[in-house]
Amino acid sequence: MSSSGDNDREWQERYQSLQLQRETELAAQQSTEKLLCRTIIRLTLAASGFNPQLDPHLNKLRDGVKKGVQASQLERLEQLSNAILHPDEPRATSQSGAADPFSRLLSRISLSASHNQALQRLVKACLAHPEGVSDQQLDQLLELISQPEAATKGKGLLGRLFARQGTSSDAGHEPNERLLTLLERLNWPEQMGQDIAHLKDRLSGAKQQDVWGEVLEDLMDLISAMLRDIQQEIYHTEGFLVELTDRLKEIDRHIQDGQDCRRESLESVKRFDQQVNDDIGSIHASVSGASSIQQLRSDVETHLNVLKHHMDSHIAEEMQLHEQAEHIELQLRDRLRHVELESEELRKKVVDAHQKATTDSVTGLPNRLAYDQRLHQEYVRWKRFGQPVSLLVWDIDDFKGINDRFGHRSGDKALAVIGNLLKQRLRETDFVARYGGEEFVMLHIGASLNESKQLAESIRQAIGKSGFHSNGNKVQVTISCGLTEFREGDTVESIFERADQAMYQAKGSGKNCCATL
Ligand code: GH3
Ligand code: MG
Ligand code: MG
Repeated sequence: MSSSGDNDREWQERYQSLQLQRETELAAQQSTEKLLCRTIIRLTLAASGFNPQLDPHLNKLRDGVKKGVQASQLERLEQLSNAILHPDEPRATSQSGAADPFSRLLSRISLSASHNQALQRLVKACLAHPEGVSDQQLDQLLELISQPEAATKGKGLLGRLFARQGTSSDAGHEPNERLLTLLERLNWPEQMGQDIAHLKDRLSGAKQQDVWGEVLEDLMDLISAMLRDIQQEIYHTEGFLVELTDRLKEIDRHIQDGQDCRRESLESVKRFDQQVNDDIGSIHASVSGASSIQQLRSDVETHLNVLKHHMDSHIAEEMQLHEQAEHIELQLRDRLRHVELESEELRKKVVDAHQKATTDSVTGLPNRLAYDQRLHQEYVRWKRFGQPVSLLVWDIDDFKGINDRFGHRSGDKALAVIGNLLKQRLRETDFVARYGGEEFVMLHIGASLNESKQLAESIRQAIGKSGFHSNGNKVQVTISCGLTEFREGDTVESIFERADQAMYQAKGSGKNCCATL
């Protein structure tokens, strides 16, 4: 009896642990989906204002993914992709079938929407009466085309790209270069790493001015394909979860059947006990009421036969119940083995997806998402236990020059070398991630600000000494660092801002140094 109770408990625990596992897996899947949605939102924000015809599609896509990934998004991506492929179509048809050269020129100089409209109006007026164009109209045209907003600022892709440094002029003005910067700044999932590297190669070595158009098109295809994969993965996982739930229900039914079997067996024992008691009672009655030995013998024999019959049928019933219970147990084990195997497969997939979503493809280090998660964890721990936590922001010095002199491939290699050096110097409890571009972030856990400073200084010197190789030549690289620690009233944002400010102080002090705030 007690072993069947143990069995019950064991199945129950298994069932509960499977359910818990299922919830954890679902949560991990949702966090991957959120990451992708955030990437799409950032990408659409960065790309908006670039071409007025694309903006409505980008807005719809952004609004759509705010609520999560749904099948309808694929259709939106298709529309966006078409709009990129045929950006001039509406204009061409409205102008007597031919693409007017002014409109084509305007689309090349990437104006903001409002400038574009004003310029379109003016150009139309001039084209309507070319012989009557006034000096004032020409001045207006010149002013609109040469306004700084028309070239680099405003709410276009490029203005946003350089918003952080506020040095748009440093970054060059060509769309090829700007798209390259966009590709560098965004955190691409690891599985897209190779394709993105390939797109970067096409842009950095580009001889044609307008290769960005084709690259952007390929980029959209890549994103569409990735979204499709994710959507499929979600469908598969949903399907698996539905199946898992069904199987768990089935297992539950089997457990129920097993319990019914045991209940029946108990009832049968009780019935048998009653029958034996009745039979013994009858024998007693026969013994005390017998008038002759003959009668007594015959009565007792009859009662013993009845007793034997009861015993035989009880044993037969028990054996049948036993076989039934064994069958149920076998089925149950089989189902559980399947569920375990499939859950393990899904668990591996989720771990793999999480690993990819939090790893930077160029350096192999944790990426910005992983940093956000870790900083949040350390913040919560710091609030609770108060152990010191230092945050270090690293920025490679004059990295643009390295790209310009040695090419982007070498630039990428330098990022990987430096990322590796930063990682090698860490203690087990510490953390380093690529924040984006040529910036890294580091967390020193349990170290005083003074200890952190010494560690940062030794890392900076090691990087200054090591450098990397490009075409057999040794290239020196230096790095600047800003550091600070969690203080009363801090938030995850405020500590980062202070470390970032310290890093800019280090730059202001001549670079290749560390500054503390
Ligand atoms: P400073 O010393 O002031 O930090 O100058 P800097 O040149 O390092 O900084 P700036 O912000 O002007 O330029 C950063 C450069 O880093 C520009 C961009 O092309 C390059 N970059 C960013 N991400 C990547 C990347 O993934 N690969 C390569 N090769 N270059 C990158
Ligand atoms: Mg920087
Ligand atoms: Mg830099």
